[in-house]
Amino acid sequence: MHFSDLGLEPELLRAVADKGYDTPTPIQRQAIPAVLAGRDVLAGAQTGTGKTAGFVLPLLQKLGSAAGRAPRVLVLTPTRELAAQVAQSVKDYGTHKNLRARVIFGGAGEQPQIDGLRAGCDLLIATPGRLLDLANRGLADLSKVEHLVLDEADRMLDMGFIHDIRRVLRLLPEKRQNLLFSATYNDDIRALAARLLTDPVHVEVTPRNSTAERVEQVAYRVDKEHKRHLLVHLFQHGIDGTGPWF
Ligand code: AMP
Repeated sequence: MHFSDLGLEPELLRAVADKGYDTPTPIQRQAIPAVLAGRDVLAGAQTGTGKTAGFVLPLLQKLGSAAGRAPRVLVLTPTRELAAQVAQSVKDYGTHKNLRARVIFGGAGEQPQIDGLRAGCDLLIATPGRLLDLANRGLADLSKVEHLVLDEADRMLDMGFIHDIRRVLRLLPEKRQNLLFSATYNDDIRALAARLLTDPVHVEVTPRNSTAERVEQVAYRVDKEHKRHLLVHLFQHGIDGTGPWF
């Protein structure tokens, strides 16, 4: 399976080749065609699975290349670090396209963000609190959003963003494509997904509520006073006795 089998346009295939990717990851194989087809998506995927390209690539394609004023794609993230990371991916994957992205997050001066919004953008990547603040003051126009992504939705809920998310949703056009990415599922995520998504394609690349695949877990029962000795032993001999770890 190659990226070209997923229906991506030449500009995006070139960007993927620039990045040195050979084959799409499982989440990309499943999510990219679904997003291109305009479907809502509920994706269970952790960081490290390639989930960002899984939604950024097809959304860049759906946007075409006309640079607009108000954003047509809105990506909500729990943290400024993730927002910056998504923005970097948009820059990388959109390098052969004529689209503009802006990033909005709290804990930083708002004026450059306001100036950026005024200058216009096609994609807006934001943390919910700051976005809501700017939108309520008429500084962020969300009336043209056609595609919404909730990235790391479980973390957003853990951080108490549910009310802000609900308020942001009320500012968006009703007719839009919705993508929800979450590493774990609980009742709150399921409720949000049920409310937000219409007939979603389910994409699952790791078993629910599991740890990352490549992390091996081993448990030893020992008395507290032996913990230190066990640790030293494990460092010296390895978990399976085949030698030191480093
Ligand atoms: P993410 O899960 O979106 O945070 O991506 C994790 C890392 O995988 C990032 O550093 C990406 O640049 C990289 N990546 C994404 N897709 C691919 C791919 N198809 N092949 C190789 N690396 C990739």
